[in-house]
Amino acid sequence: MITLTTQAIQNHDDARGAAWRHALRMAFRDPHELLEYLGLPADLIAGAEQPIREFPLLVPRGYAARMQRGDPHDPLLRQVLPLGIENAKVPGFVADPVGDLTSLAGPGLLHKYQGRALLIATGACAIHCRYCFRRHFPYAEASASRGHWAEVLETLRAHPEIDEIILSGGDPLMLDDDKLGELVSALEHLPQLRRLRVHTRLPIVLPERVDDALLAWIGRSRLQVICVIHANHANELDHSVAHALTRLRDVGVTLLNQSVLLRGVNDHAEILSELSLRLFECGVMPYYLHLLDPVAGAAHFEIEEQDATHIVRAVRARLPGYLVPRLVREEAGQPSKTDIPL
Ligand SMILES: *Cc1c(COP(=O)(O)O)cnc(C)c1O
Ligand code: SF4
Repeated sequence: MITLTTQAIQNHDDARGAAWRHALRMAFRDPHELLEYLGLPADLIAGAEQPIREFPLLVPRGYAARMQRGDPHDPLLRQVLPLGIENAKVPGFVADPVGDLTSLAGPGLLHKYQGRALLIATGACAIHCRYCFRRHFPYAEASASRGHWAEVLETLRAHPEIDEIILSGGDPLMLDDDKLGELVSALEHLPQLRRLRVHTRLPIVLPERVDDALLAWIGRSRLQVICVIHANHANELDHSVAHALTRLRDVGVTLLNQSVLLRGVNDHAEILSELSLRLFECGVMPYYLHLLDPVAGAAHFEIEEQDATHIVRAVRARLPGYLVPRLVREEAGQPSKTDIPL
């Protein structure tokens, strides 16, 4: 992931210079710089040298601007700041917690669930979330680069029951629009496909990405397009994000949100309720609230299942039903996400 991220940035360091590429180049990559910008002491990252080497800090400036200066517990900062406790070896927290490597149906194609297949379109992201279940994923071997597209299409043709393709990653919107437009039009030639789903955090962390070029190919697709964004806290949804989401809706995209329940970020009913309300104001329906996947280095984010149900029951008691996300966990080998009974 690390090398691919750097590579992706270098490859596109070109003259066309989309504004979002520029914003990405300006992102924080040095934890000390981020801490200085926030007026926080450098010792917050004491002991984090190894985690930083393995999964470097990456935070767009626009995202950092939504953090509270001087607050080491800021819920946005917590998501991205490498910490010494990531070194803790916790039983059960492993490199591939959701069994992705055993579900590969072809290069970068994960076919776990009936009717939909997930394409790891790139390993790159615009932000590095410390709790990410793919933080150790071997993207270089497992993602479907352009040379693999023909094989992906072949696999889909062999499974005519698949009517939805999910672009994921990393973050699929890290690819250029030329490339995405080309991939999507190849997919559109498969008559079996009805829906195109894009799992992306870019409208949240780099709203500049939602530009005319992106909206152009989305707007002209014959497929129904769904964007599943990834926000964990209402503070992530500022005006620039709301604007980007409105533009997506204006070209007919259905917007859903998935969150991860994270200790110290959103593990309170009030915080989750405010997130749902804010999402709805931005035209986004809450979809899933995931229990943390037990990925090595992220154990300090974990909320026990029993506490999670308690929190979500409190959300359910205060919000209309349509604003309550489904509490789920991902279990390797299961035919769908697993609902946690409340
Ligand atoms: C989560 C996931 C999906 C999507 O599941 P939905 O319940 O349809 O949102 C599809 N494929 C894979 C491999 C997944 O991990
Ligand atoms: S944006 Fe998504 S895939 Fe990328 S690091 Fe964050 S959680 Fe992981």
